[in-house]
Order: sequence, then structure tokens, then C-alpha cells
Amino acid sequence: MRAEKFDVVIIGGGNAGIGVTGPVRRAGLSVAMVESRDLGGTCPNRGCTPKKVLVAAGQALHDIDRAAQHRIAVAKPQLDWAGLIAREKHMIKDIPDGLAHAMARRDVNVIKGHATFAGPDAVRVGGRTLEASHIVIATGSKPRPLPIPGAEHMLTSDDMLSESRRPDSVVFIGGGVISLEFGHVYARAGSRVTILEALPQLLPAMDPDAVAALQAESERIGLQIRTGVRVERIEATAGRFRVIFTHESAETAVEADWVVNGAGRIADVNALGLAAGQVDHDNGRIAVDSHLRSTSNSRVYICGDVVPTSPQLSPVATYEGDLVGRNIVDGPKHSPDYSSIATAVYTVPALAAVGLTEAAAKAQGLAVEIHVNDMHEWFSARTYAETVAWSKVIVDRGSDRILGAHFVGHAGQELVNLFGLAMKFGIRASEIREHIYAYPTFASDIKHMLGHA
Ligand SMILES: Cc1cc2nc3c(=O)[nH]c(=O)nc-3n(C[C@H](O)[C@H](O)[C@H](O)COP(=O)(O)OP(=O)(O)OC[C@H]3O[C@@H](n4cnc5c(N)ncnc54)[C@H](O)[C@@H]3O)c2cc1C
Repeated sequence: MRAEKFDVVIIGGGNAGIGVTGPVRRAGLSVAMVESRDLGGTCPNRGCTPKKVLVAAGQALHDIDRAAQHRIAVAKPQLDWAGLIAREKHMIKDIPDGLAHAMARRDVNVIKGHATFAGPDAVRVGGRTLEASHIVIATGSKPRPLPIPGAEHMLTSDDMLSESRRPDSVVFIGGGVISLEFGHVYARAGSRVTILEALPQLLPAMDPDAVAALQAESERIGLQIRTGVRVERIEATAGRFRVIFTHESAETAVEADWVVNGAGRIADVNALGLAAGQVDHDNGRIAVDSHLRSTSNSRVYICGDVVPTSPQLSPVATYEGDLVGRNIVDGPKHSPDYSSIATAVYTVPALAAVGLTEAAAKAQGLAVEIHVNDMHEWFSARTYAETVAWSKVIVDRGSDRILGAHFVGHAGQELVNLFGLAMKFGIRASEIREHIYAYPTFASDIKHMLGHA
């Protein structure tokens, strides 16, 4: 069969792949997008969007828990877990079809199937061969395999978002974002939750003081957290599981209904036939230049969770996809800038961050002002009976620019975006203090978070 020719072939129809289509279609290039599962990929179908539906239920339970502080008497809440999962599925069910229409309007040729490289400028899907001037790898990520005996017993986030039973007890192996977010919802719904983390700190990339505040709040709502442990094996025991781990050479076991892989995610590239595409990689980490282009095959770009050096976040995937699209159209001249990208861990309350941690700023030798605020006595925190309200803002002493901001609680997942905006557009700390905010709001507190000039 003859090869079909396109200007651009995109492998993967998630945030990153869809991000590529805007610039290349505006430039009139012909585009094929190959998707093996659902258009939209992880974020709307198996990630951010459905997870947030569960997080919102966790937030409602948290609010009910504090009702008495507002002088409201309520009965013990009962969460219908099967009903919640049905609500979550209902909310996302139309997303792939909606995106299929959007891609059709954009004149993107969507091909259902699993793509593999058939050569440096060609991709095979089923019996079809697609030749292209540019090939984009936007295949996303998958749970990191754990080399421990019994690893096959572990569930993943996909399972948690589909299982209509809530476990009475669950052990998360790995103390990252997924474990904390789901762990908070399960704990608030009444499950016994244990998190086992190999490193000394949960969320190792985050500011240690912010993580300590979140860990204290997590333990307050009942999560059992063990750091610095080594998981030795998982054993099946009469319908349940026993996780055996060591801490400082002492062996301990914890039993639970479920064991979940919370050890992070790795690029999903090993079934792509990268060798046939002449795409160099080191154990799945594709080698790219500063324009997200393969160092060994200049026709190939990568974006999204596949990129080994950027945060695995949905807006980052969209941003990188758009940047790759512009590099295809303009030639490789655009490079990503990740310095002001805000992120949140959607525990209840959330941890949110943008920019440098205090340690990173100091390691760069920057002269900084550090504003740490325990805000739980502030009027806004007391009004809403917040259980934790903490922030740290890092300001460059010389330029008065914001270098980083970190929150636990206090609407941090919203306020962090104001600091991201200030960082991106060079708004100085003194200008943030000068601004007049709607009052009383959490945002009106940010001038106080920056101390006095
Ligand atoms: C449980 C969970 C919660 C998350 N929550 C958040 C959040 O709150 N906020 C946030 O910013 N990020 C969140 N993320 C991360 C976010 O979902 C990802 O960063 C984002 O989806 C990455 O987009 P992508 O396009 O790179 O990959 P994906 O969205 O995974 O898309 C890749 C697509 O490629 C397809 N594919 C793979 N291999 C092939 C092949 N060979 N041929 C054809 N198609 C193929 C896949 O089917 C998939 O549809 C979460 C992730 C998870 C798992």
C-alpha cells in the first residue's frame, strides 16, 4: 500500500498533541493525529478533570466538618462513593466527542490506532503508513513500574477513578501528588490511608516548609505517613494485601484492601519503535535540544509528559505543544520558559507553588527577602475557620521582583496565579503592595504576605 503524505504527523491526541495543531493548521500545513485511546488524553479523561470532581467532594466534606464553627448543626455526612464516581464519569463523558468535532473543524485528520515509527520520516498505524516532514511525539506518560515483588497487585490512578467501591484501607507506595490528592479524599470519606515514601520528604520538589505544613494537616485528618522507607514486597492475603517495608533496617508490615502505585509517571515511549525513527533516548528519556527537537532526528519534536525535563502538568503540555507547532512553522527558534508556571497539589486544603523554592534561590546565590506567614489567626482565615493557612513569598532584594511563592490553604491555588502573573510580567513586590484589592478577600491579604517595604 502506498504511503500517505502529510506535513505533520502527531502521535498522541492529548493536551500536547492538540496544542501542536493550532499553529500548524493556521499556517495551512496538512496534519494527521494518531490516537490509540480517547481524544483529550489523560487530563480530561483520566487525570485533572475527573480527579477534581473527587477533590470537590473532599472539599465539601471538609466544609461540613467545620460547620459547627459557623454555628450550623449537621448530621454525620454519608458519601455515596458509587454515586460520586457516576457523577465524575457523567461530567467527562462528552469530552472526546467534543474534541473530535474541534479537530474536524480545524481540519486535522484524526486516525484511531497505535502508531509506531516505520522509519525516520514515517509512522505505521495498522496497515497504513504515514510519511511526514515533521513527526511529533506527544504520547504522554504512564505509571512508573516498581521493581518490587508483588508489584502486579498495585492499582493505578485509572483504577481509582473508575472503581465504584471505596476501600476501607489503602496503601500508597510513593508520596507524590497522586497519593496525596487521592489520599485526602479517601481519608475524608472514612478510609484508612497510609503513604510510604522512600525519600525523607513527601513531594521532594516542593518547598520543605510548605510540605511540612501539608504533612501536619494530612496527619491531622488521619493519614499515616512514613518517609525514608524501603518497600520490600507486596503479598496477597485472603482478598487483602500486606505491604512489607523497612525503616532503618527494622521490618514492618501494613495491611490494606488496596495498594496503589503512587511513584510518579514516566514517558510512554517504549512501544514506539524509537530506533526505527532514529530517535536517541536514554531509557525512555528522549534527547532534545532547547527547541524540544530530537538531537538525532531533526524531523522529530516532542512535547508534554514525554519531555523528561519539564513538569508533568496539563497547561505545560499545551504550552509545549503550541511551542512545537510554532517551531515547525517558523523553524526551530522558540524555547520554553518554565520559570513562572504555577502548580497545585489538590489536597484539601491545597498546596500551591510558583517559581523558586527558598533553597533553590539561595543555591543560586541570590540575595533574597523571605516572607513566611502563618496566617491562621488572620481575619480571613478565622472567618472561614481555616485549619491551615500558610505562605512563603521569596523576593529578590535587588530588583524587588517575586522569585517564588508557596502556599498551604488560604485559597493558595488561586492566589498563586497572581504571583505567577507578577513574575512573568515583572510586577514588583512594592507594586503588588500598592494595588487596591476587593475586600475582604484572600487576595487582599497578599500585600500583607509581602510584609512592609
Ligand atoms: C490522576 C492524574 C491527575 C492529574 N491531575 C493534574 C492536575 O490537576 N493538573 C495538571 O496540570 N496536570 C494533572 N495531571 C497531569 C496531566 O494529566 C498531564 O500532564 C497531561 O495530560 C499530559 O498531556 P500529554 O498530551 O503530554 O499526554 P496525554 O494527555 O497522556 O496524551 C497522550 C496521548 O497519546 C496517546 N498515545 C500514547 N501512545 C500512543 C501511540 N503509540 N499511538 C497513538 N496514540 C498514543 C495516549 O492514548 C494519550 O491519549 C494529572 C495526571 C494524572 C494521571
